[in-house]
Amino acid sequence: MLLLLLLACGPKTPAAPPTSGPHALTVLHTNDIHAHFEPEPAEWLDGRPAIGGFVRLEQEVRAVRAARGAGQTLTVDGGDQLTGTPITEIEEAGSFGGAMHALFDRVGYDAWVVGNHEFDKGLDNLSRYTQNHPMLPLSCNLLALGSAKPLLPQQQLSHVYAVAGMRVGVIGVTTDKLAGLMNKRDFARMTLAPESAAVQAEVNRLDPATDLIVVLSHIGVESDKRLASDVQGIDLIVGAHSHTRLTSALRVGDTWIVQAGSYNRSLGIIDLVADEDHITELRYELRDLLPATATVAPDPEMQETVATYKKSIDRVYGETVSNAPALLGRSYNHESALGRWISDALRDRTGADVAFYNGGGLRADIPPGPVTRLTLFQCFPFQNAVVTFQLSGQALLDIVLRNLAADADEKRGFLSTSGLTWTWRTIAGAPEIVAVRVNGAPLDLAKDYTVAASSYLTEQWQKHLGAEPRKVEAAGYNDFDAAVEYARSRPVVDPGDLRGVEVK
Ligand SMILES: [Zn+2]
Repeated sequence: MLLLLLLACGPKTPAAPPTSGPHALTVLHTNDIHAHFEPEPAEWLDGRPAIGGFVRLEQEVRAVRAARGAGQTLTVDGGDQLTGTPITEIEEAGSFGGAMHALFDRVGYDAWVVGNHEFDKGLDNLSRYTQNHPMLPLSCNLLALGSAKPLLPQQQLSHVYAVAGMRVGVIGVTTDKLAGLMNKRDFARMTLAPESAAVQAEVNRLDPATDLIVVLSHIGVESDKRLASDVQGIDLIVGAHSHTRLTSALRVGDTWIVQAGSYNRSLGIIDLVADEDHITELRYELRDLLPATATVAPDPEMQETVATYKKSIDRVYGETVSNAPALLGRSYNHESALGRWISDALRDRTGADVAFYNGGGLRADIPPGPVTRLTLFQCFPFQNAVVTFQLSGQALLDIVLRNLAADADEKRGFLSTSGLTWTWRTIAGAPEIVAVRVNGAPLDLAKDYTVAASSYLTEQWQKHLGAEPRKVEAAGYNDFDAAVEYARSRPVVDPGDLRGVEVK
């Protein structure tokens, strides 16, 4: 019975030769779940219905599998499974984040690709995370140091699944920009191959023995488009990393590209027909995981597992520490209320002249209402150490210039500031600085200023600060702790005073 159950769970390596003629296959996919295992209010919908979570996800996957028939579906995840809620603070089955793996296993995934945030708790923790699970970790460019072999236990460069009467080759690819996205010590312990070359090599190897090639990518939608035109022979790219909600599939040449948003809010459903090594038909649906649309009952075991994890998190993170009268929103590449608030918190606690917080580190808005430790954890889940350091006035001016450029370029992150303010105007279509001040006094380019930020910014200073920080000192607490203490001492409100002001 156990064996039968295991066989029913997912496709296996091909044993029998495939049958010829057109075949229908359904690929179910998620990405960038970021530890969001519970339903959360959909703030953008009327009545704020609870969207997503693993109970609802499992229901939808089970319903689609039943509708398509046994052995017709492949279920995959695009990575960044970890970091976003305190579930990754629980040690379970040998690793921080192991609880997430238990939830994925209960849904019954076939494969996933390792994302950058999987490294947040360190490479050794990730090695423990990938062990002993039916869901295969795939990545063709994440390699053991100085080797062409996979980096992690159970990891494969690719895997060929016998499903829907076909041999489907699935290749994983992880962003080759990892150096700027993870800690340098662990990065030095691996070899990372360039995306396109690694994928092409794997496509060439698999192509003669497969009917369809799927790339499970954690490189972002823009890079997916480039991959589709660089690499010959990819039928479908199931994407991740840019958190892009594609409501219809993109097409570059003969390659289809899909991506299912983020945070476990939607399930991507690809119904395709393949014949003679090509996709001949493709229908794509991004199905939002809303409570009202469920067609099958929830799985009691999944409900119980989720409730158990929620209970242990609530014990530590349920405490209400403050109140937010109104929403504090965030932005990656513009000044935002949440960015002003957290940089003010860091400057207040450290007494530095200036504080910074990066746009990519703001992971959730603060909704109106009671502010719990959990609310703040979801905003600042990385728990990087707070550090103080010295930067010259010239370096601060360069950061202001970079911020002005970020406003005009979606891909560049904005550095939220406290203590550092500027006015600017548009001359002949380009932004130009009028004045820069530090705590009200004109910026002195030759002077050294004390700055507070997270250790992520000092470690990635080339990308975020532009100048090397000097006299870096740890403050002895992390950014999440600083946010909790700041929130305890006053209501959580947008500081309101704009740091960058456009003048005419
Ligand atoms: Zn990512």
